[in-house]
Amino acid sequence: LYQPQVDLRSGDVFAVEALLRWKHPTRGMVAPDTFIPTAEETGLIVPIGDWVLHEACRQNKAWQDAGLSPLTVCVNVSARQFREPNLIGRVVNALRDSGLEARYLELEVTESLIMQDVELAVATMNALQNLGVQISIDDFGTGYSSLSALKTFPVARLKIDKSFIKDLAADENDQAVASAVISLGQNLHLKVIAEGVETDDQVAFLRKNNCDEMQGYHFSKPVSAQGIEKLLSGERGG
Ligand code: C2E
Ligand code: MG
Ligand code: MG
Repeated sequence: LYQPQVDLRSGDVFAVEALLRWKHPTRGMVAPDTFIPTAEETGLIVPIGDWVLHEACRQNKAWQDAGLSPLTVCVNVSARQFREPNLIGRVVNALRDSGLEARYLELEVTESLIMQDVELAVATMNALQNLGVQISIDDFGTGYSSLSALKTFPVARLKIDKSFIKDLAADENDQAVASAVISLGQNLHLKVIAEGVETDDQVAFLRKNNCDEMQGYHFSKPVSAQGIEKLLSGERGG
């Protein structure tokens, strides 16, 4: 499935995040939290992740070929995939096979993944950036992040974790964390996106505090590829 990401100032959809589902023959749609940890342990996440990468690039190129205004597709990358020595080769293959330009692909990595081995992570992120691929830090604020290291990371955006957004309208601590992450991003010249945005009050707080972008049920749940097409052509038609 794909979930739109929206520019908070213009209201435009500029990206979608690919969110994996397992269509199980008897259990129906299975959410990733229930199978990704096992896939990580067994190593199956490597071929699964490779499929996601190829499929997301192929779909994004198909949207462009169908005449939709170009979007970025964001793909979650787990620690195991990130440590694979041929990650760069896999990304190159997905871009080549799909014909998608690198600038329309973004990889989401978590803080904790980066902090496992900062030097290796920065080298890998630099190699990806040299390809033209963008990188964002997912679940930002929940991990053990070194702020001194953060300024050396070649990343384009910080994604404020949805746990800070959930009670944003009422909880002063969450407000403090969210506005601190927003100013941190501004000062480091990174875009800041809030995830899990569901209510008008949350949107109002984010706008007031100059957050750049949002993602969440307020605008749209994760939907099928056709759902994205419908949503964007509807948007174009007014
Ligand atoms: P994530 O990357 O942080 O993705 C955001 C999660 O928040 C998604 O859950 C999304 O459906 C959910 N979400 C979006 N808007 C809202 C909202 O307004 N309210 C609430 N309560 N939730 C919202 P989902 O799809 O179940 O994915 C869970 C996690 O599974 C993802 O967290 C990501 O870490 C992982 N994941 C998903 N797809 C992949 C994949 O292809 N590869 C890997 N390695 N991990 C994936
Ligand atoms: Mg993500
Ligand atoms: Mg997240």
